[in-house]
Amino acid sequence: MAVWQKHRFKAIIENMVEKVIPKVIPIRIDEGKGLVPSIGAQLVKPHSHTKDARGRTLRDLRISVTDRCNFRCTYCMPKEVFDQNYPYLSHKELLSFEEITRLSSIFSTLGVEKIRLTGGEPLLRKNLEILIEMLSKIRSAEGKSLDLTLTTNGSILRKKAAALKAAGLQRLTVSLDGLNDDIFKKMNDVDFPVSDVLDGIKAAQEVGFENIKVNMVVKKGTNDHEIVAMAKHFKGSGVILRFIEFMDVGSSNGWNMEQVLPSKDVIARISESFPLEPIEANYTGEVAQRWRYLDGSGEVGVISSVTQTFCHECTRARISTDGQMYLCLFANEGFDFKTLLRSGKSDLEIANAVMNTWSQRDDHYSEIRGSNTASQSSGNRKVEMSYIGG
Ligand code: SAM
Ligand code: SF4
Ligand code: SF4
Repeated sequence: MAVWQKHRFKAIIENMVEKVIPKVIPIRIDEGKGLVPSIGAQLVKPHSHTKDARGRTLRDLRISVTDRCNFRCTYCMPKEVFDQNYPYLSHKELLSFEEITRLSSIFSTLGVEKIRLTGGEPLLRKNLEILIEMLSKIRSAEGKSLDLTLTTNGSILRKKAAALKAAGLQRLTVSLDGLNDDIFKKMNDVDFPVSDVLDGIKAAQEVGFENIKVNMVVKKGTNDHEIVAMAKHFKGSGVILRFIEFMDVGSSNGWNMEQVLPSKDVIARISESFPLEPIEANYTGEVAQRWRYLDGSGEVGVISSVTQTFCHECTRARISTDGQMYLCLFANEGFDFKTLLRSGKSDLEIANAVMNTWSQRDDHYSEIRGSNTASQSSGNRKVEMSYIGG
């Protein structure tokens, strides 16, 4: 087949897919509509050893500070769904900085050691550095500060890096799906250039952020041929590149297994040019599997959420932009902590509600994922990642 015929054929197929797959408006849990967390009649002192139904303790918290974003990554906020009619949360629905800090402080009494701010695009939340400064003052029962980190698309990192560092942010993850402008622009779908993200990473290094991580979502057939170029670019730079398998989060990204490139293939492709060997995890429950370059020039990681699941050691809870607690990235219901925060409940009562909610957690979605779980006909409509935080 001639090249023009291939292009024509591709355009016809894409056009058909657009017509056949209906526009899906993702669910959004409106104010007060989440499940009501139970506080329990007998209040107990907050402690860090509450186990869920599968024996997992609560250690990490991801907080979405905005459901908005300036990108329209096709795998996360596709343009056809997240258009000007999309019902984003209004300002009064968002948790305030004081509410986020209070909740985080309660979670720290329950064993949470690490907090990741995310979104949507977290740097779009006005005065985010003030929130970071507030969170950086939280101390655990043993007097330890939180491991405070943030995931960003890097688009305004050059402007924000110094303020984030000064406010007490400890670590940073930047998302970047390729080095080729055409491919990156196709994936962010807002014509955003690679150079500005790279410049944001450089700015973060200049103000003293170390061991910055770069996340690349690998979509087979779209950006998988960028894997080796990305590895080559970041090798020896002090930046830790991590490859994430394309996931069926939310209900609008048209996921199917054929677009997933297993992490083992990512490692095999890099190893052909730059040999790698596996290394130990930094801590139990680390989502990325680590690999080191044999020539000593650093490491890469793979997050195999689809092909090698890690639910058995998942210690993460998520707080949505409007204060719903989600126990799994693939959940379709949250627990309404905002109402508790706004109805005069004490820290002790809220801590008990968190412990009760966590103790009943049985989520292990990735272990039971089927090829049809993302299908709209399955009835399993999941909340969007931009709302509960990646
Ligand atoms: N906007 C910020 C960013 O892109 O870094 C933070 C929020 S984003 C939802 C968090 C992370 O989730 C990003 O690294 C993004 O690439 C990843 N992500 C989003 N949708 C995904 C999907 N369907 N599969 C795998 N990773 C995904
Ligand atoms: Fe925005 Fe991040 Fe989602 Fe891309 S992955 S649309 S940058 S929230
Ligand atoms: Fe955790 Fe849910 Fe992901 Fe499993 S699928 S690792 S339970 S967030």
